[in-house]
Amino acid sequence: MKNHERKDKEIVPVIDEENIVPYEKWIVSFSNSRKGTVRTSFREFFAQGFYEAYDIVMTYAEKQNVDIRWFKEKRNCGASFSNHVFIKLESCCTYCNKRFNHQEPIPCNHYKCQSTFCSRDCCNDHIWLLHNSK
Ligand SMILES: [Zn+2]
Ligand SMILES: [Zn+2]
Repeated sequence: MKNHERKDKEIVPVIDEENIVPYEKWIVSFSNSRKGTVRTSFREFFAQGFYEAYDIVMTYAEKQNVDIRWFKEKRNCGASFSNHVFIKLESCCTYCNKRFNHQEPIPCNHYKCQSTFCSRDCCNDHIWLLHNSK
């Protein structure tokens, strides 16, 4: 029993209720080496503290078979990073609510609309439903 308790404490960070870790935007840098060429890519995502960020990038790296070069809070990344908008690590389709990370989200082309979609079909359906009524 004692062993079990100790193990849990090592893995799970102690959450101090009065000191809630805020959601921060993080940037992760991946490298993907295939046939001798190394490609570097950057993605951004939201996480609540280091442990969650670590978890998110590890899961992603495993799924996508890429290596993590580094990841850190966007505000600590310097001006060239802070002012740049990166592809989301994982996006949520405005239309079908599906989470996806295999491609760049398709943006709605209607002016002032911030919606993004997992596929052309979702985008078209959304435009037809929301922007064609007038
Ligand atoms: Zn969709
Ligand atoms: Zn739209």
